[in-house]
Parts: sequence; C-alpha cells; structure tokens
Amino acid sequence: MTVTPMAERLAPWNCAPLTAPAFEVYTARDLDRIPQIQALDPERRFAMKVVATVLPFRVNRYVTEHLIDWDNIPDDPLFQLLYPQPGMLRPDHFERVASLLRRDAPQAEVASVVAEIRHELNPHPAGQLKLNIPRDETGQPINGLQHKYRETVLLFPSQGQTCHSYCTFCFRWAQFIGDKSLRIASAEAARMHGYLRAHPEVTDVLITGGDPLVMKTAHLKAYIEPLLSPEFAHIRSIRIGTKALTFWPYRFLTEGEGQALLDLFAQVVASGKQLALMAHLNHWRELEPAPTQEAIARVRATGAMIRAQAPLLAHINDDSDVWAKLWQREVELGIVPYYMFVERDTGAHHYFKVPLARAWRIYRDALQRVSGLARTVRGPSMSAAPGKVEVLGVSRVAGQRVFVLRFLQGRNPAWVDRPFFARFDPRATWLDELQPAFEPRFFWQDEFDAMLGREAAA
Ligand SMILES: *Cc1c(COP(=O)(O)O)cnc(C)c1O
Ligand code: SF4
Repeated sequence: MTVTPMAERLAPWNCAPLTAPAFEVYTARDLDRIPQIQALDPERRFAMKVVATVLPFRVNRYVTEHLIDWDNIPDDPLFQLLYPQPGMLRPDHFERVASLLRRDAPQAEVASVVAEIRHELNPHPAGQLKLNIPRDETGQPINGLQHKYRETVLLFPSQGQTCHSYCTFCFRWAQFIGDKSLRIASAEAARMHGYLRAHPEVTDVLITGGDPLVMKTAHLKAYIEPLLSPEFAHIRSIRIGTKALTFWPYRFLTEGEGQALLDLFAQVVASGKQLALMAHLNHWRELEPAPTQEAIARVRATGAMIRAQAPLLAHINDDSDVWAKLWQREVELGIVPYYMFVERDTGAHHYFKVPLARAWRIYRDALQRVSGLARTVRGPSMSAAPGKVEVLGVSRVAGQRVFVLRFLQGRNPAWVDRPFFARFDPRATWLDELQPAFEPRFFWQDEFDAMLGREAAA
C-alpha cells in the first residue's frame, strides 16, 4: 500500500478506509500450524512449545508475516520479541516441563508444575497487587484502577487485558485474563468515573492493559466519553497505552471500527483535552510497514499526539544504534520519544535483563547521536515500588564510584528531581539491588516504609 501524504488528505483523518486482512491469532496449541514455524528444526520447535507452556504466548498472522525476518532466525529482534525462545526459562524449569511434554504427561500434572513455576517467576512485581489500589468513600477497593502518582490515574478496563500479540518479555503476563462483557464495562466505568469525580487533583487518565485498543470502540467510548463532560473539567489529558500501531495497524484504518476510533480521538481533541497515544515501540523495524505509517499519519490528523516508550531488552534492543535509529524515525514520523524503561524483574527477566550501568551507556550513546528533537526521551527508568527512578549516570564523588539517580515520579511528589547516590555495582539490574553511597538509607526510604506499613494496615 502507499501512504497518503498529509497535505493530500481532504477531511484529515476521514480518508478512504482500507480493507484489513483477516485478523488471525495463534496461541501455544497452534504453533505447529504456523507455516514459518513448520520450517524450523524440530528441536527448536519443541523448545518453543516448552516455553509457551509456561509463559503466555499469542501472536497474530500480521506480525508473523510483516515484522519478522525469517531469514535471520533465531537472532532477529522481532522474532525474539514475539516468539518463545529456549533461554527464556531457567534450565531447571525448562527441563521439568520438557520431560513432562516428552512423556505426554496428563494435563493436570502439567498444569500443576506450570503453576508452581509461574509462582516462582515473580508474577506481580513492584507491589502491583497490594499497593496503589484506590478505594471509594465506603473503603471498598475499586478494581481496575491504580492511583500511585498524584496527577495520574491508571485505568485497566477488564476488556482490555489482552493484546493483539504478546511480547515475550511482558511484565503484565500474569494479568492476561478477564471478563469481557459490555455490561461489566459500564458498571466498571461508572465506579471509575465516581472516583475521578471525587479527585480533582487528577489531571491525567492513562488507559492501559494489556492493550485497550483490543476493545471495541464502543467499549472504549464508555470509558472516555463521560470524561468530556463539565464535571470532569479537571481531567486535562487522556492517554491510551497501546502497541496496536505496530502489532495491528488496521485497528486505525478500517471502515467502522477504525473510523469510529479516529472519530473518538478527534472528539476528545475538540473538547479541549489532550489525547495522547502512548505507543510501545521496541525497535525501529516495527515502524517500517506501510500500514503502520498510514495509521500514524491518520492518528496525528485527528489532533492526537503520539508519544513513544519501551523497555530496553537483551536480544531485542540492547544496542545504542537501534535506539538512535528508533528515536530518529519516531521524530520523522511525528512521534515524541518519551521513556526508555529498565525491564522489570518478572517472567523471563534473566533472559532480557541489562545491567543498569550498561543500560545508561546505551541510552547516553544513543542520545549523543540524535538531535534535540529526539532528546525528549528520559531513562533508563525503573518503575519501582517507590516511583520511577532514572539512572542519570555513573560518576565519581569524593573518590567513590556512584550511580547518580533521581525520581521522575514518586509516591511522594516531593521526592521528584532530587539527585541521590548509590554505590556503583556493575551487575545491579534494579533499584532494590542498590546501596546508598554516603548515608545509611536513601533519603526517601523511611517515608516509603511508613507508606507500606499504612497500606498493609488498610
Ligand atoms: C508511569 C506511570 C504513570 C505516568 O507517569 P508519567 O511520568 O506522567 O508518564 C502513572 N502511573 C503509574 C503507576 C506509572 O507507572
Ligand atoms: S503490548 Fe504491552 S501489555 Fe501487551 S504483551 Fe506487549 S508489553 Fe505486554
């Protein structure tokens, strides 16, 4: 397909709809049906099955055909992003499952071993389950909401807890379940709106998942449209976290669903609020297909902003060339680079992790090679329990090698942007592996512990 230049569009986002190819999904039990997989050697195919028995696996035909370079298996970064790899399970876990599959063990036996292994993979990192769950006036927790930073509430619509394809490193792998009816959507949306009505300090709503754009537009609208009424004047920005631009760009391009989605974006923009699509982009190659570029152009034509964020991952994008090119392409396509994340300690973390010191070097080497327009990106950033902590760099202070860190977001906003120091450790991959450099405790630690104590008591 050819991309219509912006200047030739009549009604800007209202241009000719495109016919999408059939949306076809493959899960673990379909691995043998995928033609590209049939061509791989039996040992690799067996290993993929073993891994897909434990970690969530779901791809669609579009990404399989358009993103992966099948002449570069297994090293292709998008193959690594989408398909299970033997190293993603620890050798002992791998062997346990492999032996069950080899002897065709009963379903129940496999399921119980899998449950045990999953439990060991830290399915809920950074206190996601217990912390930050808001409550209504009667003290009841409100499911599907998370309010960690004063200005921003996260909304997890139950129908959006899946994705067009799953990323192999996803930290949300444990939450890919849920009830998908519209009835639940409206009841749930009403409780969420009630909370937002009572919290005038909230300026931003971030709708996330999974991928909220797996929802029908009508469902998404049930969450968004009420926010445009005067009682929600305090909500200034609505963000939608998504990977649909590259995993299923036809979500934006079809007659009906695609058109209705762009109309909804335009409606938000016309109301005077900011609509920001928070695009998850791991590799510049994701931006090459023409349908993706067309989707980006049409989303921008509605007046919505697109910002980009992604984790840094071994085997996929642990290379400053990849990031420099990714940020450069984003800027050329009108996307604002936003965050580079450090991968969380969950699932196949041992496979994807990159030490903080190396993560910072990759970030810095990439940043030095792009112009100021692309230097809007911040990172490498850890979304840890106390907040988003950025590694500003490695330095030497009073003769000691240290990490210089700062909060980009904090559970207490007063923590933000105060540089603090940790002892240098070349192997550290996460905040909880760091020790304060000059004091017994980090400046925020006592207050954070007190917060945890309060929440545990609630
Ligand atoms: C990242 C994040 C946000 C949004 O933070 P911004 O810095 O405004 O992008 C909100 N809530 C949680 C829990 C987050 O992790
Ligand atoms: S698109 Fe996002 S939520 Fe979905 S699998 Fe990938 S990282 Fe996870």
